[in-house]
Amino acid sequence: MDRIYLCLAHMSGEEQKYIKEAFDTNWVVPLGPNVNAFEDDLARFVGGDDGAEPCAKEIVALSSGTAAVHLGLVMLGVEKGDEVICQSFTFAASANPIVYQGATPVFVDSEPDTYNIDPQLLEEAIKDRIAKTGKKPKAIIPVYLYGMPARIDEIMEIANRYEIPVLEDAAEGFGSKYRGQVCGTFGTYGALSFNGNKMITTSGGGALICPDADSKKRVMFYATQAREAYPYYQHEKIGYNYRMSNICAGIGRGQMTVAEEHIRHHQWAHDRYVELLSGVEDVTVHTSPESYMESNYWLTTIRFNDSKHTMEGELLELVDKLSAANIETRPLWKPMHKQPVYKDAPAYVNGVSEQMFSQGLCLPSGPYVGEEEIEYIVKNIIKSL
Ligand SMILES: *Cc1c(COP(=O)(O)O)cnc(C)c1O
Repeated sequence: MDRIYLCLAHMSGEEQKYIKEAFDTNWVVPLGPNVNAFEDDLARFVGGDDGAEPCAKEIVALSSGTAAVHLGLVMLGVEKGDEVICQSFTFAASANPIVYQGATPVFVDSEPDTYNIDPQLLEEAIKDRIAKTGKKPKAIIPVYLYGMPARIDEIMEIANRYEIPVLEDAAEGFGSKYRGQVCGTFGTYGALSFNGNKMITTSGGGALICPDADSKKRVMFYATQAREAYPYYQHEKIGYNYRMSNICAGIGRGQMTVAEEHIRHHQWAHDRYVELLSGVEDVTVHTSPESYMESNYWLTTIRFNDSKHTMEGELLELVDKLSAANIETRPLWKPMHKQPVYKDAPAYVNGVSEQMFSQGLCLPSGPYVGEEEIEYIVKNIIKSL
């Protein structure tokens, strides 16, 4: 058996056509026809054309998902001295841009059903920050961990009540849906990632989902060094070089032709894991808690219910054992409030993310993981128990 990876980039075959077009027309720059067309594809995709309420959004293609989170914060006016609430159970790229802005992240733990930000704890954190600092957090960043929708209705209700804008980190939730609406379109801004291991890839890249044409224009301004409209280089704001290359966008256009197929494959892989692991008492496959939450299942994750397979016990030995059998697995994200770099950040915790980090494992789920691979992986997990 060849090595089975968590999620490898998988091409449709169309990508090279768009790249060739870019070379043939010498659009080898961070703007151009592929960038515009990829943004149109994405706008249609997140707009939802499956009978649900259409959701008109504008898209700006960027150099990474991290850049998208960063520009979302810039657009929301986050600056030095501000606090931003961020889901603790996530990849560091959700939180680092808060620090780029000189602001302080305030971490909030997850609820056990979705692994995403706990709405009740979110409200407690908001109240406590207002009591302690005399001002409201400037933004809220929920995350769609491993593709699972967050309880976004509850989150938006709280955010709206306190009039705090929401920036959704949908980097892992590309195409996941909540009540039929695509994740990343509920808040003021939504960040997507097209890194090599994500649901679709542009080799490296991301996008910011914007509420309207004006904000799109503003995001593009900041993404291209904040050049003012003068015949010479005039700068009145700090800008960034965050625009997506026309070559990368060509890959993105090719990937969009198979995006739905990729999502269906990841969902199929999850269902197979559920079936094959259903009789195994000590293993729970993380599954959407509500029928109206449609996860893309970017990665299927499992949790061990025995006391042996924990971070303190033999979980990492199991990772090594599976690796020796040519299976790549990985512990779940280590919560931000447990990261040394964020040890001084305020945190509102309930033990959920720490427990999941201790007991959980990500399983291979990408387009190269078929029936034979899943059976082999499950057999090896059962063998190790
Ligand atoms: C991948 C990821 C990002 C960052 O995306 P890049 O394109 O790698 O910069 C942000 N947040 C989460 C939760 C991610 O998984």
